[in-house]
Amino acid sequence: FLSASGGVGVVFTGLILTYALEVPKFLKFGTMMASRVESDFNRVERILQYMKVDTEADEDTSPEVRKGLPPAFPSKSTLEFRNYSMRYRDGLPLVLKNVSFTVADGEKIGIVGRTGSGKSSILVSIFRIVEGSSGSILLDGIDISTLGLRDLRASMCMIPQDPFLFSGTLRENIDPFSAVKDDKDVWDALDMVGLKSVVGTLPEGLATVMSDGGSNFSQGQRQLICMARALLRNARVLMLDEATASIDLETDNKIQTAIRTAFSHCTVLTIAHRLDTVMDSDRIIVMEEGVVAEIDVPKTLLDKEEGALSRLVTRSGNADRLKSIASKSYDNLRAVDTKQFLP
Ligand code: ATP
Ligand code: MG
Repeated sequence: FLSASGGVGVVFTGLILTYALEVPKFLKFGTMMASRVESDFNRVERILQYMKVDTEADEDTSPEVRKGLPPAFPSKSTLEFRNYSMRYRDGLPLVLKNVSFTVADGEKIGIVGRTGSGKSSILVSIFRIVEGSSGSILLDGIDISTLGLRDLRASMCMIPQDPFLFSGTLRENIDPFSAVKDDKDVWDALDMVGLKSVVGTLPEGLATVMSDGGSNFSQGQRQLICMARALLRNARVLMLDEATASIDLETDNKIQTAIRTAFSHCTVLTIAHRLDTVMDSDRIIVMEEGVVAEIDVPKTLLDKEEGALSRLVTRSGNADRLKSIASKSYDNLRAVDTKQFLP
């Protein structure tokens, strides 16, 4: 065709054809390069995306706020939710809706409610793991959103359902920042949570090395270790999330006793699925779909036939036992000085 259309010699035609046959090879290479560039640029895209991720608020309290704080903050562990609303991400529905309640200094509060009602979200909000969308939370009268995260979190301690232990020795787990010089204090903390005898029988005592995630301790023992950690940290607010869901009744009782004695000066918020755990609290918060359905002394709530707590208790199947726990603790409460919590 080339030679026919005008004056190209046979030799050139041969040459052109040879080169023309080479072109597809380069096309293949070109496509390969193009796709490789595209996949490599994913990394750049990822980096740009991560550069835009919102980070947590400042670790340190700003000097202006710090000036207004009392020297020993928090001196009282009163907690107040004021019309607080929270959602996990923009565009998602509110998980806590206009929640308002006040917890007095040293009060033991139980939080109950159905799955997904927003119990854990309350703890998440107090720790500012997620920031609120409106309203405020006050710790000892100070809006926690103005505080630095380190100062805020240093004053509280959370024991999650699945207690986490670091690798290292037992002592490092109980006192991670080596804040306590004396081993005796560590032993005292262990004694208060009822672990002294267990650790005493270990050949290496406090120097026992944790295996992966603390698997050489049982779930309940791990929780008690976390509690000893909270004790040594002198936390003013202690939060337990379903902490007693997976342990036997006896250890549960041990933990409850530890909370009553060792944390008597702390404000304790306990989330519980097993109603037994919280029936002897000073007050109970019943959450329902992100709002506080009820908050009062357990016995008062149980006396309301149609109340939210009464419904939960009836459905739990051991209403009589729960009611007797509630009224026993009510009588005890009456016997001691209680006016501060009773409405
Ligand atoms: P449970 O008794 O099962 O522990 P809960 O009362 O603790 O339930 P929350 O964990 O507070 O419930 O959850 C309340 C609501 O928030 C649920 O509807 C859930 O879908 C939503 N939610 C929880 N965690 C997140 C998250 N990380 N991102 C988005 N939504 C979440
Ligand atoms: Mg939860």
